[in-house]
Amino acid sequence: MTSLLIRNARIVDGTAPEPTDPVDIAIENGRFTEVGKGLSFDADAVQDLNGAIVMPGLIDCHVHVIATTANLGQNAELPNSWVALRSAQIMREMLMRGFTTVRDLGGADRGLQKAVEDGLIEAPRLVICGKALSQTGGHTDYRGPYHNRDVSYYPDRLGALGRVCDGVPEVRRAAREEVKNGAQFIKIMADGGVSSPSDPVGYLVFSVEELKAAVEVAKGFGTYVSAHLYDDAAIVRALDCGIDCIEHGNLMGDATIARIAREGQVVVPTNITYDYLARAGAQFGLPPESVAKIDGVREAGLERLVKLHAAGVTMGYGSDLLGGMHSEQSGEFPLRGRYLPAQAVIRSATVDAARVLRMEGQIGVIAPGAHADLIVVDGNPLEDLALLTRQGAHLSLILQGGVARKKASAL
Ligand code: ZN
Ligand code: ZN
Repeated sequence: MTSLLIRNARIVDGTAPEPTDPVDIAIENGRFTEVGKGLSFDADAVQDLNGAIVMPGLIDCHVHVIATTANLGQNAELPNSWVALRSAQIMREMLMRGFTTVRDLGGADRGLQKAVEDGLIEAPRLVICGKALSQTGGHTDYRGPYHNRDVSYYPDRLGALGRVCDGVPEVRRAAREEVKNGAQFIKIMADGGVSSPSDPVGYLVFSVEELKAAVEVAKGFGTYVSAHLYDDAAIVRALDCGIDCIEHGNLMGDATIARIAREGQVVVPTNITYDYLARAGAQFGLPPESVAKIDGVREAGLERLVKLHAAGVTMGYGSDLLGGMHSEQSGEFPLRGRYLPAQAVIRSATVDAARVLRMEGQIGVIAPGAHADLIVVDGNPLEDLALLTRQGAHLSLILQGGVARKKASAL
């Protein structure tokens, strides 16, 4: 493995309101080894950035890399081999937007993760939960109201975001199978949702006993449960059952926000998906009954950003886009920036995201010991978050594990 010395880089990671003074960054064997002024380090290569801004590689805490279309029922029926190859393209595009790590919230398997680790594809570091768990008629039951044909084949379909399980023994088995197959956390659909046909938002899916069974399996393995949630009653129930990570959270009440601030669970809002779905969901294959569900959660989600920030809740950056909408992944930056300080928005994709993924010190920072994931931005994102959009057009260098995935000719 080669070594690299980056000179005169000003760091923006969301922990300070201004970029740092220029520093040098030493990289060896895929990790940052030293950060400081005037480093003397005998590197294979030296890159002087002349005061340009660098950020830790970005982290998206909520993606679905196997969602090749917004019609998730149709996606589940596609051939595994085709889905794998299309997912590789979707992931490469994420990497080119500066996301060097993504957490998949349903669908991606150990095979895709291993393909990234083995260097078969250039893609973000992939954190997986395997299939999300859903009850019959829940958020990953795509059958709709007209038949009850068996869907026990979902776990073997790469294109299925989730699997259906009912009752404590089945939930336990499903969670255990996902852990066996490489899941790093368990994802559970604990509320109705937008992209599925038979589950209104606020439907208290799964029993308390089923939710607790999933939490017990996850905690027994030393990890956590993340849950898809909108409605306040569903969120309170999930918290009571020991769920540690709340996805979306659009309809969360003030008392619940105060509770989360006190107890330390984390939240991953995903506003860009509602923003874009409202504008263009139908053209990307989202069924009409799903399009109609969006307005109920879109504005509420944006209002919650301000309240969660004021309460001091840790928020991760999340996009949650499907199919042809993946290109909007970076749109969550300027969208959140309309409601929050840019520094807080950046932190959600760096240090706070690392906390959500339980990988603090490993990713989301430019510090000794962390993976050498870094992007060079042509401008200061603390002043203009849109510099992180446009498919990485303003990123002149993307390093992942010390390897250049993108390097502009000017460098
Ligand atoms: Zn969800
Ligand atoms: Zn999702």
